[in-house]
Amino acid sequence: MMPHVMEAMEEDFTVHRLWEAEDRDALLAEVGERVRAVGTSGNLGASAALMDALPNLEIVGCYGVGVDSIDLQHAAKRKVIVTNTPDVLNDDVANMAIALLLATSRRICVGDRYVRDGKWLKAAMPLTHSIRGKQLGILGLGRIGKDIAEKASAFGLELSYHGRRKQDDVSYRFFDNLVEMAENCDYLVAICPGGEATNNIVNRAVMDALGPEGVLINVARGTVVDEAELVLALQEGRLGGAGLDVFLEEPKVPEALFEMDQVVLQPHAASATVETRHAMGDLVVKNLRAHFAGQPVLTPVR
Ligand code: NDP
Repeated sequence: MMPHVMEAMEEDFTVHRLWEAEDRDALLAEVGERVRAVGTSGNLGASAALMDALPNLEIVGCYGVGVDSIDLQHAAKRKVIVTNTPDVLNDDVANMAIALLLATSRRICVGDRYVRDGKWLKAAMPLTHSIRGKQLGILGLGRIGKDIAEKASAFGLELSYHGRRKQDDVSYRFFDNLVEMAENCDYLVAICPGGEATNNIVNRAVMDALGPEGVLINVARGTVVDEAELVLALQEGRLGGAGLDVFLEEPKVPEALFEMDQVVLQPHAASATVETRHAMGDLVVKNLRAHFAGQPVLTPVR
């Protein structure tokens, strides 16, 4: 949590810092019975074991919108409320998706290195590709996916999407089959939730359908893409490029990707702006305060 969020929490609550404890089990044994709320992040989550170490737990406030690392079933069983931080991060996460799309298609990082390494003094950089008129498929047309779609439309991209169901209130083309959508795409942006249902949903067949000119952008979760297959597809030229904000074992990233000019990497930073992180932190605190004031929480995960 950002310092100002911790300060806000400490105004109203006694805060125990589990992540700083040398012996976490000892801290849980000491204070577990008194703990009524957990503040956590999308990365750290909250396991069933953690919840069970806190018999009087009422609420888990997640600093992030993705809750795949929180055991929601167990929380429901224990009647623990879970909140997250939807919407306040849409704009920045969508911007990161668009930034990765432009960075890969226009080879922004390659161009930057080209200038710094003095290569421009010897020859012009090879031409890149424009995005206007190209097909963009969105895997997960939710809150953030819709924001990406709106921004991508302004860049002149043609939109389609894949999800578990067709949405009646949008005009973009719907594919009920992800491979089929990938066959029809130049760019595929993954922005669906992580977790079991989407584990490796972007598999070899999807990457091959996207093809040697195709580019995969992943701002969803590392688990959504078969990472070993992704490395292979890029190495073998079966996939044209990738813009990746998320990885399977963060902060570890497959080193094979470091050498690839057709890949742009980010350290899970899509929502990591001062403004958005402030808004997310404020929402975590507002949810906790509402709950302990006996009011309904603002953004429950249902
Ligand atoms: P929403 O719940 O609003 O949207 C999720 C979308 O994914 C829905 O359109 C849903 O459509 C689709 N979806 C859900 N399950 C499946 C499935 N099994 N197969 C295909 N599509 C599916 O979430 P948000 O837009 O707010 O956030 C989406 C995700 O983005 C988060 O869960 C998080 O993992 C990730 N994220 C990453 C960030 C980063 O820093 N890189 C920051 C913020 C979010 P339907 O119901 O029709 O299937």
